[in-house]
Amino acid sequence: MKKKLYHIITIGCQMNKSDSERIAGYLEKHGYVLSENKDKAVLVVVTTCGVKQSAENRAYSLIYRLKKNNPKIKIVLTGCLSQRKDVQRRLNGYVDIWMPITELDSLAYKLGLEKIENNSLSGYLAINPKYNSKFSAFVPIGNGCDNFCAYCVVPHARGRETYRDALEILEEVKKLVKKGYKEITLIAQNVNSYRAKITNYELRITNKKENEDFKLIKFPDLLRMVNDIPGDFWIRFSTSHPKDMSDELIKAVAECVPASPKLRGAGKVCEHIHLPVQSGDNEILREMNRKYTREHYINLIKKIRKAVSNVCITTDIIVGFPGETEEQFNQTIRLLKEIKFYLAYISQYSPRAGTISAKMDNDVTQKEKKRREEALVKIVKKTALEENKKYLNKIVDVLIEGKNKKGDWFGKTRTYKNVRINGEALLGEFIKVKIKKAKDFGLEGEIIN
Ligand code: SF4
Repeated sequence: MKKKLYHIITIGCQMNKSDSERIAGYLEKHGYVLSENKDKAVLVVVTTCGVKQSAENRAYSLIYRLKKNNPKIKIVLTGCLSQRKDVQRRLNGYVDIWMPITELDSLAYKLGLEKIENNSLSGYLAINPKYNSKFSAFVPIGNGCDNFCAYCVVPHARGRETYRDALEILEEVKKLVKKGYKEITLIAQNVNSYRAKITNYELRITNKKENEDFKLIKFPDLLRMVNDIPGDFWIRFSTSHPKDMSDELIKAVAECVPASPKLRGAGKVCEHIHLPVQSGDNEILREMNRKYTREHYINLIKKIRKAVSNVCITTDIIVGFPGETEEQFNQTIRLLKEIKFYLAYISQYSPRAGTISAKMDNDVTQKEKKRREEALVKIVKKTALEENKKYLNKIVDVLIEGKNKKGDWFGKTRTYKNVRINGEALLGEFIKVKIKKAKDFGLEGEIIN
């Protein structure tokens, strides 16, 4: 019998990458076989991103080209663009199935493989994924966002927040650890607001006598529960929102890092927190609907640094939001200099269809946005180098992620720093490395036996 070949193209964030792993798992369960070559596939799924115009354009050109090369190919479009009317008009005749990711379990019906439409109550996150990596996995704990930041398409594209059963998450992590996975990243648009009720919690955890109580599990509880799973692995989580980063969560992180006196070395949570600030100016933050102030953010960083020694903080920043004046931008510069981030993902603002800020005047010129971006990159490079120099001659644990073009092994520290290794290593293994060189966005070191 001829194999039904599928191919998946993923554009965008880690949530999209994780969704594509579930799509792959689902398709293989329904008899499809992966084709590395998209032109040989009979079915191509495009997981799209709408955060930037460039990502949107990439999806258009890919889809036009696929259909032109092979008019018989079936194209499924999911991700951020799947529910946008203007996109549906533009790709009319090119896309065969429009699939919001939450409807993944009815794809077989839409493909004509099943007679009855499946709408599982537990949601698409319960579908078994086919992980891309053999040692590092994203484990989604929820989907969607309730925050409606003025510039962001996510709440419109993915819908409101829904969270996954805690026991189902723990099961997925346990299975991964058993298979030898070394890095688990708990992901959601806003991990901090994770909450799930577990009925008969005691019963389900311990198999003891029945009781009707339920327990409300919040993110700090979930983090502690994942940390309690026996095994040799690291835990990361992303993305956090500054308004929801509670004292309780900071306490949980401090308890679950290896240096915690409470755990005496059994902590698995990494000393890295990604906390998007977006702007250093209070008026811009208000316009962005971020619901925190510059002062709140600075205070939060102080609390995290006090509670978690050696923590590395990274962030996201948007330059050129509508109405951002020179002085408001300077507030972001001052914030960067004060906090000294190790890494900042800086983007130039671009209006996205359907968002609140798309109706505002996009009045900062392209040239000015570029200048502001470059100014921030310069500062972050300097603060990152200062921070990296602190690692010189220290011995750190590194998880080996692969080889670069020159054939050198590289990996990451618990604090999310890239390390180039001199010597032979093994993919997906932890090794001890002595740091010999510090650069702005990376370290170099030698293996210690
Ligand atoms: S918190 Fe804001 S930026 Fe993040 S996904 Fe939600 S709306 Fe978008």
